[in-house]
Amino acid sequence: MSSRIDLDPTHRSGSAALPPLVWKFGGTSVADHDRLRAVAERMVAAQRTGRRVVAVLSAMGKSTDDLVEMAYGISARPPLRELDALLSVGESISCALAAMAVAELGSRAVSLTARQAGIATDGAHGNARLVAVEPQRIHDELADGAIVLVTGFQGVSANGDVTTLGRGGSDASAVAVAVALGADKCEIFTDVPAVFTADPRVVPDARRLCSIRHEEMLEMAEGGAGVMQPRSVELALSHGVDIHLRSSFSAEEGTWIRRETDGLESAGSTAVAGVAHRRQESLYAVDGVGAGAVVAALAERGIAVGAVVPEPARVRFTAPGAEQAEVSAALDGVGAVKVDQGLGSVSVVSLGIGRKPEIVAAALGALEDADIVPQLVTTTAGRATVLVASSEVDDAVRLLHRIFFPAAAETSVPLQSAADAA
Ligand code: ADP
Ligand code: ASP
Ligand code: MG
Repeated sequence: MSSRIDLDPTHRSGSAALPPLVWKFGGTSVADHDRLRAVAERMVAAQRTGRRVVAVLSAMGKSTDDLVEMAYGISARPPLRELDALLSVGESISCALAAMAVAELGSRAVSLTARQAGIATDGAHGNARLVAVEPQRIHDELADGAIVLVTGFQGVSANGDVTTLGRGGSDASAVAVAVALGADKCEIFTDVPAVFTADPRVVPDARRLCSIRHEEMLEMAEGGAGVMQPRSVELALSHGVDIHLRSSFSAEEGTWIRRETDGLESAGSTAVAGVAHRRQESLYAVDGVGAGAVVAALAERGIAVGAVVPEPARVRFTAPGAEQAEVSAALDGVGAVKVDQGLGSVSVVSLGIGRKPEIVAAALGALEDADIVPQLVTTTAGRATVLVASSEVDDAVRLLHRIFFPAAAETSVPLQSAADAA
């Protein structure tokens, strides 16, 4: 995906020496009028210091979920083009309202849809790939003194149809805009102050990271750490963009996602970067068909599989990140889909975990000692993922976090030595 983005960093509008600030505000950060006003104030304040500001906005609060529900309420298999036409609307609303909030503050902002902002994708509705960002209009508006508000999540295909970049896709929009504008960094404003070693909503004493490598963040995100969309991290990695993830509600420094790490709290200094989880993981089974046919049908609707277990008379698989309704719709006509819904997953992230069997052994041993029975274990180059009952996910996350990130007083427990030795 990322290699196809056309870079245009030499084309800079205006005479400003500094590259534009490229910011992204997530759903919670624009959830209501007060928050939209706060976003407007932050942008106007930055502009008044002489900076050019481009902000990519998500849909307000959980409004994209509401749109998904509306779609599947009228059709079990909504045409993907029309699904995108509907889901993309949320980001347009945020941008238009934010532009109004900026106007109320006496400055000027312009809201741009993906088409207006030149965000070109392929035609894979629901999970479209970025092809190029042609930021001429963004440059023109910046040169004209406007704060530029770009709809996240949206793209436009070669035939002019609106596409979407997959759930959480505004992160990828922001990174793509930063690449195209030659910005030195992309700042992601969200509802937590930093990236932590586990979701701080599940592990209150998770460690706050000053910095984390792109590769580690990517594995965390693939394991379910929804704080960044995986594709956006991949894009930042391949284009060398630093991401600063920070709170939308304060001015404090957050976490730098970048090539090098430093500082004692950086994930790179420990064997395990973090523990990620998904509260709901569906294990699907389709009888009487081969894995190839199932994976192909899913791919047609842009759905990627996680684990695939081909068996003599059926195939079982997971599709992390895809809604169950989407999976069933994709396999309509291929075979009857059975779903084991009562599952979730917990992942231990450590680059090169494939060469550190002691980490996986320690994780599985600890889970079994706590009577948490793994249903399926998969490993990638940077992550071991264990499917467990969803009711046990939170306990499993806390347990594994305690093992790999013991409190200071516990640092001599054997499992910490196992991690250090790795
Ligand atoms: P936004 O709407 O701003 O895009 P998201 O809900 O997509 O925000 O992502 C922020 C959420 O990610 C946080 O509220 C937090 O619960 C969750 N999260 C999961 N894992 C982590 C982690 N390791 N560090 C920080 N936040 C995490
Ligand atoms: N609004 C979209 C979603 O909820 C995109 C985003 O927020 O990043 O998935
Ligand atoms: Mg998000």
